[in-house]
Amino acid sequence: MRLELLRPVQGSEQAEVVEAALAICERGPSPHFAPAVLGHELLELEVEAVGVRERALHVLVAEHAFARLQPHLEELFVHRSPSGSIAAGLQYGSVHRVYAVKYAERDARRAEHFIGGDPHDAPMPMYYFLCAVVGDSETWVVDTGFGRTDAAARRRNLLRTAADALAVVGVDARQVTDVVLTHLHYDHAGGLEHFPSARFHVQDREMAFATGRHMIEPAQGHGFTADHVAALVRHVHAGRVVFHAGDDELAPGVSVHLLGGHTDGLQVVRVETEQGAMVLASDATHYYENIEAGRPFPVVFDVGTMVEGWDILRRLASSPDAIIPGHDPLVLERYPASAPGCEGVAARLDLGRL
Ligand SMILES: [Zn+2]
Repeated sequence: MRLELLRPVQGSEQAEVVEAALAICERGPSPHFAPAVLGHELLELEVEAVGVRERALHVLVAEHAFARLQPHLEELFVHRSPSGSIAAGLQYGSVHRVYAVKYAERDARRAEHFIGGDPHDAPMPMYYFLCAVVGDSETWVVDTGFGRTDAAARRRNLLRTAADALAVVGVDARQVTDVVLTHLHYDHAGGLEHFPSARFHVQDREMAFATGRHMIEPAQGHGFTADHVAALVRHVHAGRVVFHAGDDELAPGVSVHLLGGHTDGLQVVRVETEQGAMVLASDATHYYENIEAGRPFPVVFDVGTMVEGWDILRRLASSPDAIIPGHDPLVLERYPASAPGCEGVAARLDLGRL
């Protein structure tokens, strides 16, 4: 967690860091009053939002008290000048960089992407992405792609393995400790072998779905590759799977949310960034057009739940632009390249739309 002085102490006075302490408040509308603890002093701060952080406008020493610790602790830093004036700031979670990297593609037409087809017979290619959420000290990978076996069997154009895709944005797959599997379809859960140090985060319902009765039906089972599911089951018995039952916080500012719909246990990832809350929606909406036009993608377990999931996405994201679809080539056009030369391959999502 990074501490940063958001409002310098007035004038040229030498600021002294007196003590880091813990705030005991939930984030409220800006500006608002927030209690905080400095040593044994209970402070009352008036704070305003600055991106994902807040800064104190006024600091009042209210009374002597001990910390009343609550689950969502955030750090407070207080600087006190020799003359006694105080500047303080609160940090709500880490600032995260978020990347999407294209690892495969296939040609497709519009009619393939909407229930009931589409009157316009035009090309609408499908891109396949991995995502990475890079914090100050931790990295989360979202989905693991597929490899050459699936690419050949399903006639997809594999451009790079999961490990090579992540290397494009400076992430070493062998070192990654936490991988979120949004769901267990072949194009999201096929590269587990690239992550020897990782735990795999999956919803209870997705594991039950991928090993249960619906897999007998080709309409549902076709999207899964049995070897991927079997590999994940082995990781369960090796203690390398973290099960989630609904919404869960992975770390301050990084959380998973159960949506279902596309598959029974589909989860999405919400990330706090400098631009606000972003949602990696995976196959809750394959394309921007699915959610924006209200037209569901035809590979689906429960259409009603998928459609309701769009409202959840809108609630989780701080703006409609901050919902990132799972397979849309527009992602690479709307967001800046991760680095010069990475245009068309990797995008940096947390910087906001171009
Ligand atoms: Zn899928």
